[in-house]
Amino acid sequence: MRLMAVMAHPDDAEIWCGGTLTLHAEKGDTVRICSLSYTEDSNRGREAREGAKRMRCEVELLGLKDTFIRDNEEAVKQLKKSMDSFQPDIIITHWFDDIHPDHEATFRVLRRALVCGFLGKSIDELKTTPRIFCCDTYGSIGIHGTFKPDQLVDVKNVWGKKKSAIQAHESQPLSFYLDMIERQCIAHGRATGTGFAEGFLYVPLFGRVNNSVNLG
Ligand SMILES: [Zn+2]
Repeated sequence: MRLMAVMAHPDDAEIWCGGTLTLHAEKGDTVRICSLSYTEDSNRGREAREGAKRMRCEVELLGLKDTFIRDNEEAVKQLKKSMDSFQPDIIITHWFDDIHPDHEATFRVLRRALVCGFLGKSIDELKTTPRIFCCDTYGSIGIHGTFKPDQLVDVKNVWGKKKSAIQAHESQPLSFYLDMIERQCIAHGRATGTGFAEGFLYVPLFGRVNNSVNLG
């Protein structure tokens, strides 16, 4: 399986889905993190490479500007090129209701890039379109309400690795992020009875309501 995390910023994958990415990488899936913002040679890019290494993932950075990610032609073209080269089966991205404008825009850029990919394709070819899952956000609070995942992935066994990958982002407010994500993963974990879980919401893009793919 090929799994891609399409995120706004270099540390988002670690925070919101790092345990799930690590589990997939460890079982032999190919996992790529695509950060829409920053470049490989920036400090944030260096931190992204270290975080990805700790999760055994590939990483690429598309160089858009932090806090100014927009659903525009440049962003869509860059993301489409990245998806075309990687050919993911599953994509994890930000929640469409995310309160952070860059996160919300990332979902819209991805949705548009997928639609662009539909042009000229047959119905049979469209069956290979990747499945989309949204991840959690700050405090699980969206613009219109609380994030309500429909898939929970038990990340107890890779919790240390997730934490270590977050800590690779030394320039960021680490204690704030670690406290926040621990609280949220414990809250999701109550539903699984495991202690720590990451929550995801399947997005039935283009009528694909029968979700047979399980992230866990
Ligand atoms: Zn972010």
